Amino acid sequence: MAERLTKISKNIYPHNMIPNNFTYYRPANLAEAIEAYTMAEKDGLHPLYLAGGTEITTFCRQGTIKPGALIDIKRIPECLRLDEDGDEIVFGSALTLNEVAESGSYPLLSRAAGIVDHTVRNRLTLGGNIAGRLPYRETVLPFLLADSLVRLAGPGGERVVPLSDLFSKRLKLAPGELLVQLLIQKEAAVGPWYYRRDVTKTRLDYPLVMACFLSINGLIRMAVTGAYGFPLRAREAEAVLNDSAVRLTDKPARAIAAIPYSFSEDMRAGGPYRQMLLERSIAQALGELRGRE
Ligand SMILES: Cc1cc2nc3c(=O)[nH]c(=O)nc-3n(C[C@H](O)[C@H](O)[C@H](O)COP(=O)(O)OP(=O)(O)OC[C@H]3O[C@@H](n4cnc5c(N)ncnc54)[C@H](O)[C@@H]3O)c2cc1C
Repeated sequence: MAERLTKISKNIYPHNMIPNNFTYYRPANLAEAIEAYTMAEKDGLHPLYLAGGTEITTFCRQGTIKPGALIDIKRIPECLRLDEDGDEIVFGSALTLNEVAESGSYPLLSRAAGIVDHTVRNRLTLGGNIAGRLPYRETVLPFLLADSLVRLAGPGGERVVPLSDLFSKRLKLAPGELLVQLLIQKEAAVGPWYYRRDVTKTRLDYPLVMACFLSINGLIRMAVTGAYGFPLRAREAEAVLNDSAVRLTDKPARAIAAIPYSFSEDMRAGGPYRQMLLERSIAQALGELRGRE
């Protein structure tokens, strides 16, 4: 059984960072984590899996969420894996973004994981970035481009499914399901790539537009976040980018026109500005990737 510690928040988080009382579970393996979730759910505690805890702490302090149980996944060996398994590279969901950024095993992912600063990245996790509520989810883009698989565990058992089956604007997990790992083919990790992240002021800001491109077998793949309010693999745009009948100079605008969403508008930037940024990213990616093929 998961080590069960009923504590008030100040015993776990300094300075009373989580204002409500909660039951803290520290499972040593997946089975214990799922058991703890099932039990807490049955007790009406509205449990959450806890990784780095940055987002959970923020939302608890804002009063947006009030979980009565937190299940810490940072000791589960499967969630901490970062290695190769046959033709695949395995990324555990509880890896910190620094561990991912510094691993270098998938250079595009290392680049995308380099958000905020080194100190904060020691806390943010891959799973928290992808399964959390904040809309940018920058690290999901390289996985969408690599046709990644995801390994999940939950009260209904374990399963491995294509990320694209589960990711539509956000990760659609079944109740109580834990993202355990993301798996990519090694050959996808070495394809030529291009990355561009545009912000308002400093690189610490959330992106106005972040776009990733990966070339596999001579075909360009594209994914973007920030521009439309959620991350997406832009398959309609890819069809244009890889269409030899479309003139190179027309491709950026035509690729964007093919994406069936409207650009985000907020205090930081209007839609036309975001559109210009994305168009510029695409033009640069095309130039860069043609040179590297
Ligand atoms: C200062 C700061 C700047 C940021 N800037 C950016 C940015 O520029 N771009 C960007 O994309 N993001 C940004 N973020 C968001 C950040 O990447 C995520 O909020 C963060 O990675 C959450 O990780 P965590 O481990 O702390 O999540 P936690 O707070 O532990 O969890 C967040 C949510 O995800 C769920 N969860 C966590 N792991 C799993 C799992 N394995 N399976 C299922 N559910 C899980 C939790 O239950 C919870 O609901 C920023 C965050 C901070 C604090």
